[in-house]
Amino acid sequence: MGEVEPERADDQAIAAAVEENKDLLTQLDSAIGDADHGTNMQRGFSAVTTALTGSEPETVGAVLVKTGTTLISSVGGASGPLYGGAFRAMGKALDTGEAGTERFAEALAAGLQSIQKLGAATPGDKTIVDAYTPALAAFRLAADAGGDFAAAAAAAADAAEEGMRATTPMQARKGRASYLGARSVGHQDPGATSTALIFRALSETAPR
Ligand code: ADP
Ligand code: MG
Repeated sequence: MGEVEPERADDQAIAAAVEENKDLLTQLDSAIGDADHGTNMQRGFSAVTTALTGSEPETVGAVLVKTGTTLISSVGGASGPLYGGAFRAMGKALDTGEAGTERFAEALAAGLQSIQKLGAATPGDKTIVDAYTPALAAFRLAADAGGDFAAAAAAAADAAEEGMRATTPMQARKGRASYLGARSVGHQDPGATSTALIFRALSETAPR
């Protein structure tokens, strides 16, 4: 067996997690959206797997940029451009400067910034941002405390899941679910759920 490149393992882990949870994501989206978040994510990440098979870029940054570009071109829903832009921004941030946990924190911050610039959501709007914001904060806290990548990624995954669960009582103020007004209350947000899955996949494949 050859050595597994961590960034490649991450792509595959995300694709596998999305595949495994496709029905859950679609079920959540059927309650407050149009029942396509699972299929959107599955289509996007299987296209990423195809795009990276055979012509894998050399740097982690380039892999992430390609991941983002592929998501933008293959996903029709709101989540495609939002996640796609985030992966592209992370990739660009990783292509400059030194590698390492601090640098990855900066890349994660660039990803969140991209999502908020495009979608204008803030914490409490019942979106991806509600899982991503606490995940980034936890990653930073762990990294600043001297934790290694695996520790920071594990803390981020826990925080993302907590943020995901916290979307249930929220009323959606962005995206399709916002059309429901008060009827969006009492349902877990699909996008916050896929964000938590992505952070968990990152944590599970983190080099230790
Ligand atoms: P669509 O809403 O176009 O059908 P998806 O179903 O794939 O797209 O994705 C829905 C998810 O996208 C929502 O659950 C929410 O988390 C996220 N989302 C929607 N609009 C925004 C936004 N403006 N900012 C951040 N996330 C958003
Ligand atoms: Mg949808």
